[in-house]
Formats: sequence, C-alpha cells, structure tokens
Amino acid sequence: MFPNTCKTNTEKRYDLPSVGVAVEFSGVAAPRLIADTAAIILLAAQSVGASAGFLSSLSRTGSVLMLVRYLIVAVVACGVCLPEKLSRGEEYLNGIRWEAPPIVTPGKTDADPPSDATVLFDGNDLSKWNNGENWPVEDGIAFSGKGPIVSKDTFGDCQVHVEWSAPLPVEGEGQGRGNSGIFLMGIYEIQVLDSYQNETYHDGQAGAIYKQTPPAVNVTRPPGEWNSYDIFWTCPQFSETGELISPAYITAMHNGVLILNHFELKGDTPFNRPPQYKSHSPQGPISIQDHGNPVRFRNIWVREFGPARGEQVREPFLRDGDKETPITQE
Ligand code: MG
Repeated sequence: MFPNTCKTNTEKRYDLPSVGVAVEFSGVAAPRLIADTAAIILLAAQSVGASAGFLSSLSRTGSVLMLVRYLIVAVVACGVCLPEKLSRGEEYLNGIRWEAPPIVTPGKTDADPPSDATVLFDGNDLSKWNNGENWPVEDGIAFSGKGPIVSKDTFGDCQVHVEWSAPLPVEGEGQGRGNSGIFLMGIYEIQVLDSYQNETYHDGQAGAIYKQTPPAVNVTRPPGEWNSYDIFWTCPQFSETGELISPAYITAMHNGVLILNHFELKGDTPFNRPPQYKSHSPQGPISIQDHGNPVRFRNIWVREFGPARGEQVREPFLRDGDKETPITQE
C-alpha cells in the first residue's frame, strides 16, 4: 500500500490531502538532514513500489489516472521538502561565550557523594566537626550527643545531603520525640523530628523551616528507618553596611520528595522571638542540633554551588547562513 504518511518525527509535517499523503520531518542538524533524506527516499521508493503494484493492477483496472496520481505524489513531496534541507532558517544566539561545565563524577547512587563534594561524615569519625568528640560514633553511625556539632569547613550557596533516623524505642512526644535540626550557616534550621504519627505544631515538624513554614507534605519514615534530606541553599546577601540585599532561599527534598520549593526565609529560626536577619559572613558552617534525643546520622556531604559561567561577548542576534540580524532589546 502507498503510505498516507511518511514520518521521521514531529518537527515538520506536510499534508498533501489532494493525493492522500502527509510527510513529517524532524531531528536536529545532521541527523535531521539524514532522517529527512531517508524519508524522501523511502517515500519515492514506496511510490515506485506502489506504482509497480499499480502497473500489475493496471492490466486489471486500466486506470491511467491512478499512475498519474502516484507520480504526482512523489514529485510534489520532494519539491516541498528538499528546499527545507537547504535552509534551516534563522537561529537565535544569545551572544554569551560559555565556559565548559566542570566534569563531576556522580556517586554510585544518588545518595553517595559526587566527586566534588566535601564529605563531612562517611561513617568513620567526626573529625570534620567541632565538638565531634562529644558525639558517639558506632558502626558507621553518629549519635546526637552533648552540644551541637559544627562543621570546620564553611559554605556559601550549597547542596547538602544528610541522612537521619529517629530513635528506637520511641520516647517522648511532640517536640520531645527525635528532635534535632540541620542549621544552614549555623543559623537557619530545617527541623529534624520524629514526625511519624507524632502531633506537634506544623511549622515545627520534620522538614519545617522552624517557626516559618511547615514542609509541603510529611514524608517521614517510621522511627528506626532512615530519612534523607537533600537541601539546596541560597545564602542571604548583605551590604557592606549590614543591610539585607537578598534573603536566603531554600529548596529541600525529604526522602526524594520535594517539601520546600525556593522558600524565602524571613530570617533566623529562634523559638522565642520573630525571625530576623543579622548581617553575617557570606560563608558559614553546617551545624547539627543536640536537643537531648539520640537521633542517628550518617552519610553527610556538601557541595558548594555556583551557576554555569559565561561572558556576554556580544549582543544577542539571529543568524541565517552568513546573514546576522541584531535583536533589539525593548
Ligand atoms: Mg530542632
């Protein structure tokens, strides 16, 4: 049968209803040209094949009009499509000379540190932390001990991975059950709490920015099981005179589920007063709270984050072959 549609993908479609045929082309650059050319050849071959089939039927039907119809299909299809191969049309170029993104080797799993991460706890010891000597480490797991631990390294914008598990047997309730917290820059707390079937105020449950917002959803696993936080942190910025220029933002996933999406922090996260910003260094440590509950931790790593780098070397423009047309900015 002669095809009604000759199709490689979805970028271009030519409908030729008068002859009962549609031709679609797509792909990019060289693959697109190859695919399109192949489609044309296929179309022509099928036309010939169909014509041959027709010839055998010609003796039966005697219909010359059918042969004419098939030949028109092949000629018209090629006539429509070939010019498209010779001109790709205008291309937008932004005028930015991008640097090649650095190569980062991912971890064996998405929970493992990638090659550019600073590993703060890999199960061996807490030597990367101030006060680490007061938190016990057993079988690759750190237990919340006496006083907070504070990373010796400091970070600005960053990605933080930390895994935690609420204590078993379950003791206490509300804020007294499995309470700890991850403090970005040592100041801004995302709550750690046993929030599995444990009522408390919502902006104090696991994944909350303490006293500012609850998490969007509660995906806490039962005590004894492991939870993961993947935190994406944007630092607040202050002027030289200490005024806030830009607030902090946080995006976070709890057990792979988005719970905070670019949330704008109102300031720090104390228990007993409204949040406020107070100028501080552009970098700060990660600290983990001791709230008197033996919360367990493992696999803690941080990646400093910087956006892709590039230089605007000229104004944006459109290019069509050798012709370049500046884009006027309004
Ligand atoms: Mg806490």
